[in-house]
Amino acid sequence: ASPAFKRALSTSRPALFAAAHSSIPRTKLFINGEFIDSKTDKWIELRNPATPEELKYAADSAAEAFKTWKKTSILHRQRKMLDLQLLIRDNMDRIAHSITLEQGKTLADARGDVLRGLQVVESACAIPHMIMGDTLEVATDMDTYTIREPLGVVGGITPFNFPAMIPLWMFPLANVTGNTCVLKPSEKDPGATMILAELAKKAGIPAGVLNIVHGAKDTVNFICDNEHIKAISFVGSDQAGQYIHERGSRNGKRVQANLGAKNHGIIMPDANKNHTLNQLTGAAFGAAGQRCMALSTVVFVGKAKEWLPELVERAQKLKVSSGFEADADLGPLISPESLQRVERLIESGVKEGADLVLDGRGLKVQKYEKGNFIGPSILTNVKTDMECYREEIFGPVLVCLNADTLDEAIDIINKNPYGNGTAIFTQSGATARKFANEVDAGQVGINVPIPVPLPMFSFTGSRGSIRGDVNFYGKSGINFYTSTKTVTALWRHEDADANVSAVNMPTMK
Ligand code: NAD
Repeated sequence: ASPAFKRALSTSRPALFAAAHSSIPRTKLFINGEFIDSKTDKWIELRNPATPEELKYAADSAAEAFKTWKKTSILHRQRKMLDLQLLIRDNMDRIAHSITLEQGKTLADARGDVLRGLQVVESACAIPHMIMGDTLEVATDMDTYTIREPLGVVGGITPFNFPAMIPLWMFPLANVTGNTCVLKPSEKDPGATMILAELAKKAGIPAGVLNIVHGAKDTVNFICDNEHIKAISFVGSDQAGQYIHERGSRNGKRVQANLGAKNHGIIMPDANKNHTLNQLTGAAFGAAGQRCMALSTVVFVGKAKEWLPELVERAQKLKVSSGFEADADLGPLISPESLQRVERLIESGVKEGADLVLDGRGLKVQKYEKGNFIGPSILTNVKTDMECYREEIFGPVLVCLNADTLDEAIDIINKNPYGNGTAIFTQSGATARKFANEVDAGQVGINVPIPVPLPMFSFTGSRGSIRGDVNFYGKSGINFYTSTKTVTALWRHEDADANVSAVNMPTMK
């Protein structure tokens, strides 16, 4: 994305189209081990959608590659992951730079994006241990054992907000378990995925084992319908996820889909104030609130609400600027449309009676006057029927509610349709334990605001934040990308039953 191309983006669609047809670099496809220029005449901003022929070429290449890839040894595939993780580490800054350029988050945050994905690749290096089956000697002449087999070609569809981490939740585990993959990154920021494809090629992942295609709904429909594709991993919004889960499932595919969120943090009056306010500020406004695990909603219990002025003070101090500026705490939103939507939701809160105690709208950032910036914003006295509470805002906006008791606060969370993550801040072990037991969310933080599990566990969002029931990465991720075959074998030295035909259901002796 050269400066000239960025300027073209901010001017007009015809200029954009002209730009796409000039000598400015274009995002390529990665199919069958080659980086290919698409022949398409339809362009999504600077993104490169695939033509129907190219999509078919990707799926066919993946199906062909599966025939040999599935036969490689587990140690061979482990070695590829060891090589890939090293290359990702060596290229961390380059990938982070691409993320900041296209997505806007700060460089430090972009490095975190890469690191959390890298950890999944590192854990994939333990595949021989993770993929072991069960075995039982049923009798002296009989064994039953299980084998975890790859599914075939699997599809991946990713969102804009973690351009490295989320593709890395998908293709490394898919490939290391013996599958081949057709991955469609977000059309808003495909750059990081393209670098990862280059590194996968360098690591010796063979042609056709990983394929990257671009585009939006048409490409998604292709993935949902293609006969070779046996399973789909999706991460993104409710609307797209519900659609993909429904369409993919209807076509007999296994679908895991992580959707939107509205994560609540409960602040107890006995919490460590300094720790709580620091954590809350980072978790609500970091990455401009564009994290599915952002702590976007806070419930102050009792006197904890008295800390609000100090929270406002800390939020005000955050520096909003281009992600490339060394002192930036948060960058811009992904698009002008997103900015308008976030501003509208803030306004709806005001109209419905909430108090806007910090208003980040209309922020102009020096040197970047045309950026999609909005500063940290805080709405208080919010009620659960307000639109700003019901909708996932996905911007640097903290919505605050009050409760008199822990029970009341838990009840608010459990009545919210989403179940991605939640957190409590308290110094009481008994309070924390009650919260962990009674709260109905998939990922619980205790004095930890964004409890995204490390890759030896799984990402366990629940209720409205997930469709399908097999989670991403960890043991669950291995289960998603494999099916279990159970073998029951009888081996006898002397055939005692040589002349007896077994016509009944076998019974245990
Ligand atoms: P999005 O749904 O707009 O896009 C995600 C993917 O779906 C993209 O590849 C896009 O091309 C495709 N897509 C978009 N609209 C579609 C449609 N109508 N039909 C078919 N495909 C479509 O999501 P986004 O804006 O890129 O990402 C932000 C959302 O993702 C937020 O809701 C956030 O909470 C969610 N998210 C969830 C998790 C999680 O693990 N729960 C993680 C990250 C992001």
